[in-house]
Amino acid sequence: MATLNIDWERNGRQASYIHVPSSTNASAWQNLRIPVFVIRNGAGPTTLLLGGSHGDEYEGPVALSKFVHSVDPDEVRGTVTVVPAINLPAVMAGARLSPLDGCNLNREFPGRPLGTVTQRIAHFITTELVPRADNVIDLHSGGRSLHFQLCTLIHEQPEAERTRSFLAAAEAFAAPLTVVIREPHADVMLDDVVEKSGRLMLSSELGGSGIITPESARIGFEGLLRVLRHFGNLRSDNVPVTETPPSRIVSVPGPDYYVHADDTAVFEPALPLGSSVGHGTVIGYLHYVDRIERKPDPVLSPQSGLLLCLHGQGLVHRNDTLVVIAVDHAP
Ligand SMILES: [Zn+2]
Repeated sequence: MATLNIDWERNGRQASYIHVPSSTNASAWQNLRIPVFVIRNGAGPTTLLLGGSHGDEYEGPVALSKFVHSVDPDEVRGTVTVVPAINLPAVMAGARLSPLDGCNLNREFPGRPLGTVTQRIAHFITTELVPRADNVIDLHSGGRSLHFQLCTLIHEQPEAERTRSFLAAAEAFAAPLTVVIREPHADVMLDDVVEKSGRLMLSSELGGSGIITPESARIGFEGLLRVLRHFGNLRSDNVPVTETPPSRIVSVPGPDYYVHADDTAVFEPALPLGSSVGHGTVIGYLHYVDRIERKPDPVLSPQSGLLLCLHGQGLVHRNDTLVVIAVDHAP
């Protein structure tokens, strides 16, 4: 079982570790320690902030590290619980999946109390952190293998009123895009646990390619401050954030809006993320540099819309996602 020693009733800033027992070839009685910060100031909403679910997505850990080391507890209302690098083994390895058990944390929910390290982390979030929260923000990006136009991400809810509250949080965050999406693997994601429990869930895809840029760092951090103010967790009316245009709300209607690679090749993008495209617009080229007879193939847009996501690295393999197209959301 994973454990955490925190006094949830105490005001001020507390820092502690989630302890997760882990036994490996190199370390028989290893005890993994995942940093947790709890900032509480009296009654009010509770918001859980998570980063580093996938270890090659740096925008969340950076935004949350900045927040916990700069926030004045007197400016907080209610409770903000922050885990900057929830899948710590993966973050410290710079890898999407945990090197300890090969598991993908955001495909292991609701988790298992006596499972592998990653399954125990998932179970701890499900049973100890989510039930204490009104709102959950889980910051992701495209990692090494994908690169997104900076966006927050919500799932459409069965009740229109709940979808509206999720959208209002995304609009407060004010990333350039807000994506309303259905995901095929939703049943094993944290989002499903939070949404089924009736709480508010906001996720993001803040860039990717396994790098962090000044822009993705700024939008991640400032968006976080804006949404915490929206929830009523930050008192101050002068949260120092850049004036930001409203987020454009888009959706990915279905599988026809994706392009997958058919072969191993080097991908040359021809358009920047966020570009408007028509059906058949050339988005880039695939170069088969291992073959003398094969000319480059154009990669064509399967739909009209906006270029939401491109492959994050030059080299692509068969079945990799190359392109995702979004369209303006029609509720
Ligand atoms: Zn992720």
